[in-house]
Amino acid sequence: MSTATEQRTFDSLNPATGAVVGTHPIQDAAAVRAAVAAAEPAAAWWGGLDWAERRKRLLDYKAVVTRDIARVVDMVHQETGKPKADATLEVILAITHIDWAARNARRVLGPRQVSPGMVGVNLAATLEYLPLGVVGVIGPWNYPVFTPMGSIAYALAAGNAVVFKPSELTPGVGVLLADLFAESVPEQPVFRTVTGLGETGAALAGDPGVRKIAFTGSTATAKRVMAACAENLTPLVAECGGKDALIVDADANVPAAADAALWGAMSNSGQTCVGVERVYVVDAVYDDFMRELTGRAANVRAGQDYGPVTMPAQIDVIRRHIDDAVATGKTVLGGPESVREPYVDPVIVEDVPEDSPAVREETFGPTLTVRRVADADEALTLANASAYGLAGTIFSGNVRRAMALARRMRSGMTAINSVVSFASVPALPFGGVGDSGFGRIHGADGLREFTRPKAVSRQR
Ligand code: NAP
Repeated sequence: MSTATEQRTFDSLNPATGAVVGTHPIQDAAAVRAAVAAAEPAAAWWGGLDWAERRKRLLDYKAVVTRDIARVVDMVHQETGKPKADATLEVILAITHIDWAARNARRVLGPRQVSPGMVGVNLAATLEYLPLGVVGVIGPWNYPVFTPMGSIAYALAAGNAVVFKPSELTPGVGVLLADLFAESVPEQPVFRTVTGLGETGAALAGDPGVRKIAFTGSTATAKRVMAACAENLTPLVAECGGKDALIVDADANVPAAADAALWGAMSNSGQTCVGVERVYVVDAVYDDFMRELTGRAANVRAGQDYGPVTMPAQIDVIRRHIDDAVATGKTVLGGPESVREPYVDPVIVEDVPEDSPAVREETFGPTLTVRRVADADEALTLANASAYGLAGTIFSGNVRRAMALARRMRSGMTAINSVVSFASVPALPFGGVGDSGFGRIHGADGLREFTRPKAVSRQR
């Protein structure tokens, strides 16, 4: 952080090289207040446009992001260190969210006649979902385009203005996303970015003009955001961390399960809220699974197959979990030597006690703990013992049985026979239970999160 004479600023750094990517203002509570105040009339104007016009402007925005995809990808690549191929996928997925939100907002939120359901009363009723006003979006750095866009696009499509606070690690791409929006909506500051460190996000969450906060980040920060929201009774949707489990049943396709476990754990260097961190394998296929998994993982290397750890402080958590797992379990692949800052090679450890930090806490690194279980029921019991409950995966040859297990899995989302990054599926609601947060983004539920239902009844 540097202090300029007139304005405090901070630098964003390329985690792979340490090079300065950009310098941004630290916007204090007064600056956030000004941004929200400017967004209030913009929200009234934007929310008052008809559905077709808002849809057109959002599809224009999609076209502008698509046109400038190389710029956006390059900024993600520089600020997170992730390979350009991964950054490209992330931006394409964000574009699919803009498209889905734009095309479905009217269908989901527009006025409809509702049968009042009262006997002997001759009422006509209309229900519609109205925008809230200014929505504050606070985002993380791990997918700095696609994660916040899962809130921003839906809030905008529902007719709200957005003030976005990107992570201090990825401010440049946050500013770029809002600048591109201003090309399709130049009239008013409908979508603007405020940059800064912890105080900026806290100011946004505590601002009395903000009608809802969409927060994505760690559970610990979510609690602070919730406290700030409490000041003004500002509603909150909180998308927090995870400790997702993958279950391999006796009749599973074992090679496919090993592929999924590896991809789910190592992609984006494990820095994924719905990344696989725990694997429970039924005894009958355990040895086969471990052979398939280690055979594949042995060839995977950080810096070649995935990028660096973006946040330097996270290395300490990953190292602590690796040390804990290695000390208490049986190391299968890697170990403390896998940490080559800012890179971490894959680490796989068996039989780590279920109450150890490596199994209980979010690691957010390319690590896996694997445990042998008697059957799928035991696997489910252990999977459900986590305080987190974001997503989970079940590999099984019996779809009916897998569906029944999925319903009992304590998670917001469950995938069967593939690791699905649910965040990339626009039509399905995304969100967790327990320490993984509350509320839903994406899909029809995600559109409704940024509205208030308005009922109007009329005597006939
Ligand atoms: P984080 O440290 O919790 O920060 C998230 C955001 O909160 C940042 O923009 C941060 O800004 C801001 N912030 C920090 N203190 C604040 C405060 N007191 N009030 C308001 N805002 C504040 O999370 P992260 O390290 O960026 O992201 C990693 C975490 O996000 C992991 O736990 C991961 O699982 C989770 N995540 C969840 C999802 C999901 O959809 N469930 C998706 C992606 C990531 P500054 O740091 O710039 O101050």
